[in-house]
Amino acid sequence: GDLDEDHEHTDEHHHHDHGHSHEATSDVCMIDASSLATMGIDDKGVVEVSTTRGRTLLLRVVADPHPTDPPSVRLSRAALRVLKAASGEAVQARKVQVTQAKRVVLEPLAPLTRGLTTYEDELSDILGGGQALVQVGMLVTAELSDFRRPVYFRVLSSSPEQAVVGPDTRIVLRTSMLSPGASANLVTFDDVGGLDKEVDQVRELIETPLMYPHVYDHLGINPPRGILLHGPPGVGKTHLARAIANEIGAHFLYVNGPEILSSVQGGTEANLRSIFEEAMESAPSIVLIDELDAIAPPRRDTGHTDARMGTQLLSLLDGLVSMEDVIVVGTTNRPEALDPALRRPGRLDRELLIGPPSVAGRLEILRIHTRGMPLEPDAQTWLPELAALTHGYTGADLVNLAREAGLHALRRHAGPGLRALAASGHDTAHVLVTQDDLLHALGQT
Ligand code: ADP
Repeated sequence: GDLDEDHEHTDEHHHHDHGHSHEATSDVCMIDASSLATMGIDDKGVVEVSTTRGRTLLLRVVADPHPTDPPSVRLSRAALRVLKAASGEAVQARKVQVTQAKRVVLEPLAPLTRGLTTYEDELSDILGGGQALVQVGMLVTAELSDFRRPVYFRVLSSSPEQAVVGPDTRIVLRTSMLSPGASANLVTFDDVGGLDKEVDQVRELIETPLMYPHVYDHLGINPPRGILLHGPPGVGKTHLARAIANEIGAHFLYVNGPEILSSVQGGTEANLRSIFEEAMESAPSIVLIDELDAIAPPRRDTGHTDARMGTQLLSLLDGLVSMEDVIVVGTTNRPEALDPALRRPGRLDRELLIGPPSVAGRLEILRIHTRGMPLEPDAQTWLPELAALTHGYTGADLVNLAREAGLHALRRHAGPGLRALAASGHDTAHVLVTQDDLLHALGQT
C-alpha cells in the first residue's frame, strides 16, 4: 500500500553475519509488523521501494520497533540519496523476489593496499555470505581481512540491474581513474531542474548514437559524434552531461580545459591521449571537456605552444570521431572564442544553448537542492516566492543560496559556539532551516 516514509538511520539494526560480513547501511528499511503481514513479507524479506517519479531501490525489511501512525517506511539517508527522495515524501513498497547477480562491478571508496583483483574472491565470499543486495549507486560494506574497519564500495553496475549477491556472482573491482569520488553522488535526471527540453535534446544527441547506432546506419546518415553546449557558467551544462552518462550507464570522463592546459609542460597532450584511450577502452563513454575554449582558441590568437595544442586536440578528436561509441561534449561560455575547425562536420557539429533558468526552473532547482535539508514547513511553502525573487540566478547561484541558508540556521542555533557544536558531532537534529534563513541568504548571495 501507500506508505509515507520517515527519515531515520537504521544503524541499530546492523548485525554481523559469519563474524565478518555487514549489512550495508543503505540496504535495510523498517516497516511496521502489521503492514509486513498484510504484504506477506517475512522479517528480512526484500521489498522494492519506489518514488512517485519512478526511481526504485531494493531493500531488506525489518519490523519497525516504533511503528508510526499512519504507517511509514523508515529509510536510511543513504537509501534516500539513491532514491533521490526527500524525507516525508510518499513512497510505495512492494514485495519482490530477487534474482542472483551474474556480475557486479564495484568501486572501492577507500584506497586498497594491494592490487584490486586480489580482493575480488574475498569480496565474493563476504558479500555472497551476507546476501548483499546490489543496485547501481548503492553502497555495500565488507570487512576485508586487510582492514580494521569496514570498507565501502559503490555499485557501478550489476546484471541484472537489481539483484542479490550469491555463490555464483562474479565480483569485479574498478576505480574511476580520473576523478575518484566523482561518482560518490550519482547525478541523475531527478537532480537536474528546469531543463526538460534540453534534457530531451541532449538525450537524442547522445543516447541514440551511443545506444542505438544501427538507427543511423539504417537511415544512411552520420550519427552525432560531438556536441557543443554553450551558455553562461553555472547553468548546469556539466551537471546535465553527467546525469545523461549516469542514466544511460555510459562511462563519464571529465576534462577541465584550463586545468589540463596548466599541467606540466608537454604533459597536456599525453594527458588528453590517455583520457581518450580510457574513453575507448570503457566505451560507451561520454568525454566532457569543460571550458573547451581554453585549449582550443582560434589558432591566429595563440602563441606557438597553444597552436600546437590546438592541432593535437583536433587530431585526437578526429581519432575519437571514428569510434562508434564515444561522444565528446564540449562546454564553453564563449563559443566565438573557439577554433572554428572544431565545429566542422564530424567534430563538435551539434550545438545547444543552455540559458539561465526560468522561474519554474528556479523552483525545481531550489526543491532539488533543499531536498536533503530540514526545511521548516513554512519555508517549504515559501519556495515559489523565493523562485520569483531570484530572477537571473543560475543553478550554481541557487546552490550557494541554499548552502548559505543552512549555514545561517546553524549559526543562529549555535551562536559563537558553532565550531564546538560541529566538533561535538551531535545536537543538530532539531535545527530547522526557516524562511528567515533563506531571506538572509538572499541578502548575502
Ligand atoms: P556549468 O557547467 O554550466 O558551468 P555546472 O553544471 O558546473 O554548470 O553547475 C554547477 C552546479 O550548480 C552543479 O553541480 C549543480 O549542483 C548546480 N546546478 C546548476 N544548474 C542546475 C540545474 N539546472 N539543476 C540542478 N542543479 C544545477
